Amino acid sequence: MKNIFEVDPESHYQFEWKKLGDIKKGRENLGEEMPVLVYRILEYSMNHVLFNNFGKEKTDEIFRQAGYLAGMEFAKNILPLDQDESTFVSTLAKTLESLKVGILRMEEADFEKGEFIITVHEDLDCSGLPPTGEVVCKYDEGFLAGILEAYANKPFRVREVDCWSSGSRVCRFKGTVDDGK
Ligand SMILES: [Zn+2]
Repeated sequence: MKNIFEVDPESHYQFEWKKLGDIKKGRENLGEEMPVLVYRILEYSMNHVLFNNFGKEKTDEIFRQAGYLAGMEFAKNILPLDQDESTFVSTLAKTLESLKVGILRMEEADFEKGEFIITVHEDLDCSGLPPTGEVVCKYDEGFLAGILEAYANKPFRVREVDCWSSGSRVCRFKGTVDDGK
């Protein structure tokens, strides 16, 4: 039977910014916000199921890839990619704070060399988690890599070096140009 909506039946699986919908219109009573708890329930139940199905490495990579996709779309749709570096960085920090993702600071940013040290205080994904000695913000690694690539037009490898889960009070990420090695 012909699909009356004329859309690809698998389109539900393709992530694009516009598919996030008109949240304001759809939630006229409840509004656009919800507790961090709900976000974490989704994230860590997904993490559990992916781990049981695919193991640690693959799960981390899936979160990174999802974060990357999100970071790219987020940057293209919300951030001023055509502005100078300091405007871009300050808008990024302001936007993440206003969306309550975290308080971002660029400790080091060398756009020429493609080297970054980025901290996120009160990170949405991990702040307050029980300490396990691990860095857990794989989604953020991809998210930041996607944002940096969208702006700088070159691929980045971002890895978390400190995390609330590893016993720190801040998430710290190191970003370098990904030369495929
Ligand atoms: Zn973290």
